[in-house]
Amino acid sequence: MARLNWGMIGGGEGSQIGPAHRLGAQADGNFVLAAGALDHDADRGRAYAQSLGVAPDRAYGDWQEMLAGEAGREDRVDLVTVATPNSTHFEITKAFLEAGFNVLCEKPMTMTVEEGEEIVKIAKASGKICAVNYCYSAYPMVREMREMVRTGQVGRVRLIVTNFSHGHHGDASDADNPRVRWRYDPAMAGVSGQFADCGIHALHMASFIAGDQVRTLSADFASTIPSRELEDDAMVNFRMEGGTVGRLWTSSVAIGRQHGFDIQVFGETGGMRWRSEEPNQVYYTPVGGRTQIMEKGEGGLSDEAARLSRVAIAHPEGFPLAVANIYVDLAASIRGARRDGLPTAEHGLRSMAAVHQAVASAKADGAWVDARPPSLR
Ligand code: NAD
Repeated sequence: MARLNWGMIGGGEGSQIGPAHRLGAQADGNFVLAAGALDHDADRGRAYAQSLGVAPDRAYGDWQEMLAGEAGREDRVDLVTVATPNSTHFEITKAFLEAGFNVLCEKPMTMTVEEGEEIVKIAKASGKICAVNYCYSAYPMVREMREMVRTGQVGRVRLIVTNFSHGHHGDASDADNPRVRWRYDPAMAGVSGQFADCGIHALHMASFIAGDQVRTLSADFASTIPSRELEDDAMVNFRMEGGTVGRLWTSSVAIGRQHGFDIQVFGETGGMRWRSEEPNQVYYTPVGGRTQIMEKGEGGLSDEAARLSRVAIAHPEGFPLAVANIYVDLAASIRGARRDGLPTAEHGLRSMAAVHQAVASAKADGAWVDARPPSLR
């Protein structure tokens, strides 16, 4: 099968998420990095793209130059990844969708709900794929949990408890470090700090595994380091359309926790637990029975978990391969297949609505609010 041409915006040298995209997109031979505007500094971006094998005429200085350059080519990129800081996602994603490109946008997809609604509309009108990188949902054992819920193995889901709490911004003496400070500055980060940064991964995963959507929420936000205008800790209670009760804690001051993303799903006939730091195992307990450890790569897992697992049982398979699973499904979708696990612009929009409604709830002392975007109520 012919390789697909792939372009990247952001994710330059030294960026946090850039390497995971490059490893992920190119892991399965589906995509080749053909074009890029990788850095906010044009010269650095051009030089770095060329060092990664991009032809000089497709190593662009900025995304506008890339849009103009790629739009006119017969071998234009089949997919554009947007891995720039949050405040730029909307205009770049919008421009590329309108010009007929497929887009994978980093989370959060936009800064406002209105922008999110617009991206969903443009994506629908263009007929192009607009995916959002909720990559944790592509771990094989997370897919296994979703299949277990779907096939009734834990019964109706009563309760989901999830955390995405780390301690990497817990040092008050480092709060003014420019790499940390912007995340709590509304001018750079928008209306929410930690919840928009990490909490939305947990909220998305709760919906993903339960096969249901968040309907209402009540939030308590705190800036535990007082110089921070935006929250560095949040507790969000939620209810899903089907009645599932949700509890979500997200924090960046939980010193001692490293990555700190985990989820527990409690159904009428069983419970399950998964942790990002131990992503190859799901702990499953049937009601009245013993806890079992289910391993990625073992026999008897769902087709979906087997499809997305490539390394033999007991060998580590981590974050870049979860990102690779997003690209596997993107490549299949671009080639015309349907992949129902792929996170879309609609998921990106739901997250933005949840973020803005959580801010409103926190300002109203935790009042319960409708978490859904206006167009999906
Ligand atoms: P970063 O600051 O480490 O890197 C950003 C990169 O984008 C840099 O190379 C910078 O030069 C480049 N850049 C900035 N503005 C640009 C522009 N206008 N045009 C081209 N390049 C530009 O940031 P990061 O931590 O890699 O985060 C980038 C995005 O990825 C954010 O939206 C973040 O929320 C998201 N992210 C997602 C995950 C995930 O798990 N899905 C993890 C980390 C980050």
